[in-house]
Formats: sequence, C-alpha cells, structure tokens
Amino acid sequence: MVLKDVFKRPLLDLRISVTDRCNMRCRYCMPREHFDKNHTYLPKSDILSFEEIVHVVESLLPSGLKKVRLTGGEPLIRKDLHKLIEQLRAVSPELDIALTTNAHLLSDSIERLKKAGISRITVSLDAVDIDVYQSMGDTTSTPDSILASIDKTLGLGIPVKVNTVVQKGINDQQLIPLISQMTSRNVPIRFIEYMDVGGTNSWNLDHVMTGNEMRSLIENEFGRLEPIEPNHPSDVARKFCTESGQVIGFIESISNPFCGDCSRARLSANGSIFTCLFATKGFDIRGILRMDATKDEISEAISSIWIQRKDRYSETRSETTDSKRIEMSFIGG
Ligand code: SAM
Ligand code: SF4
Ligand code: SF4
Repeated sequence: MVLKDVFKRPLLDLRISVTDRCNMRCRYCMPREHFDKNHTYLPKSDILSFEEIVHVVESLLPSGLKKVRLTGGEPLIRKDLHKLIEQLRAVSPELDIALTTNAHLLSDSIERLKKAGISRITVSLDAVDIDVYQSMGDTTSTPDSILASIDKTLGLGIPVKVNTVVQKGINDQQLIPLISQMTSRNVPIRFIEYMDVGGTNSWNLDHVMTGNEMRSLIENEFGRLEPIEPNHPSDVARKFCTESGQVIGFIESISNPFCGDCSRARLSANGSIFTCLFATKGFDIRGILRMDATKDEISEAISSIWIQRKDRYSETRSETTDSKRIEMSFIGG
C-alpha cells in the first residue's frame, strides 16, 4: 500500500547521505571558517553500514519507494561506494539509483559505479571560469577536470545532469557559458536558487537570483524559452527549452516553492529520517536497526513518521522563525 502523509503526498524518493564529510568547502554550504579542524564530524561507529542502508531501502519498496539518491557531504569519499550500489541493485532491478556529486573523484570511480548498476549522475558545477569556480568552492580543483569527468561518464552511456547554485553577483555571469558547455554535450542543466539551508552560510535574500531573473538573462542571449511539461508532479525543476533544444531547469525553492508535491524523505549518514530539507530534527531509526529490527518493523517505524508529516517549509518561509536548522552537508542535499 502506498504511504501518504497528511497532505496525501506519497514517499517516492529517499535521499541517502552516506557521509557528512566533503572534499570541497563551497562557501554557500560548508564555509571553511565553520567546517575547519575544530568541526566535529560523525564518528565512524555512528554511520550506517551499507547493509543497514539497504535494509531501510528494502523495507520501503513495498510502500511505493521508486528512487534513491546517494548524496552527502561528498558521497564519493565514502569508501567502496560502488558496493552499496551493487547491494541496492540486487534488491531491486527497477529502482532508480542516482548520485549527486561534486565530481572530483568521479573519473576514477565511474567504471565501478556503472558496473554496480548506477542509473544516473548529477554533477554539481557552479562555474566554468576557473577563478569563480575556485572561489565559490574554496577549492584548488578546476572546472576543466569536472567537465572531463562529465565527458567520461557520458562516454560510458550514463545519463548526466548538471546542477548549478546561482548566487547573485557571484556566479550569475556564468549562466551563459555553462549553458553553452552543456549544449555542446547535450546535457540538461538546472539552476538552483540559493537557499537558506543550515545556519552557517550567512544566507541573505540579496544574494538570491530568482528563476524569473535567470530566465530573462538567458532569453537575452538564447531567445525565447519554451516551457516543458513536467514528467511527474514531484519534479523539483520547472523545465524550459531553448530554440536550439537545450533543456534548462530552474529549482525555485525561494520564489516558486514546490512543497505541494514533495515526495522526498532524507536519511542522514547516522540513520535519522528527516521529512523536510529544512527540518530542525530527525527521527532516529539507527536504534531499531541495531536491535535487529525486521523490514516490517522498520517500515512501520518510517510509516508512523511519514503519515504525520505536514512539512511545507518553502511555502511558509516568511511565517517561520529563525530556529536552528540542520546543515545541508549533514542532511543530504
Ligand atoms: N557534495 C555533493 C555535491 O555538491 O554535488 C552532494 C551534496 S550537496 C549538499 C548537494 C547539492 O546541494 C549540490 O548540488 C549543492 O550545490 C546544493 N546546495 C548546497 N547548499 C546549497 C544552498 N545553500 N542553496 C542551494 N543549493 C545548495
Ligand atoms: Fe561539499 Fe557538495 Fe556542500 Fe559543496 S555543495 S561543500 S561539494 S557537500
Ligand atoms: Fe519538500 Fe520541505 Fe523542500 Fe517543501 S521545503 S519542497 S516540504 S523539502
């Protein structure tokens, strides 16, 4: 039976954070001054094993789960991640298994991920200009190396999408060159409005470029954008197409929220279920996992959380107070 929350939203999509660590320090996500050597990361013993993660996923398949997305932190720094994909694929040949990555380690691991049964990859890339890229990500890596790993992934026949967080005055001049790079590769790109997640990125409305603002900038260069019908109501991006056929999505959590069809739950690396990206607390299920709970017992525990779910943070943003939210690198983007 399909599991539904208070607003009749099903649980179709589980985002699984496999680590709270990262090899980048994007200023909008893990600013170095907060995530320095004094930051306490999860101890290894707190982190769910691959077997525990698979047990959770398996328990949710009968109630309608269709898709998992491996994320973090940076998922590719979790040792032997391909073995998790192998195990997930073994429990469900139909499951959509996606990965969101900054792609620093993608070239070295993509063959293993393919063999294990990954369905598709989303690469985060905020700029093609090296200075903008390195300053936003606080990294010495280069956009060319990320583009090369995208090419390698495409060469293996694995579908790729690119995600770009847009910050006004910081990388808004990168939209056009990014679109050109993706058009030449036939890769869809999605621009994400800078969001007020966590409590360390000093988020400010002045740094948000709205989807409307992005579209008018893009139309000035590429001509009229034609809207595309969503494949599914729970698609987070509003999709458009340029005259040359390039697909561009906009994830407008700030200016055009999409909570009404939100069918996503998140599983943190230490085994808590979060029912919203902006949640202030999760529900621990590691406890019962480590008491050898059966699939039915785990499914019951998650069902009892989901059926009470009333989250619609993005729609009520202006009414909410500034309570302490969980960091995106922890909860899983
Ligand atoms: N490290 C991986 C990566 O960057 O692809 C996966 C985790 S990251 C938290 C997932 C996504 O969240 C990335 O595409 C990132 O750009 C996005 N993200 C992080 N902080 C954000 C913010 N404040 N607003 C909008 N998107 C954000
Ligand atoms: Fe790391 Fe991804 Fe956050 Fe950047 S957005 S700091 S790559 S987790
Ligand atoms: Fe879903 Fe929460 Fe985002 Fe709304 S704010 S779309 S409920 S994750």
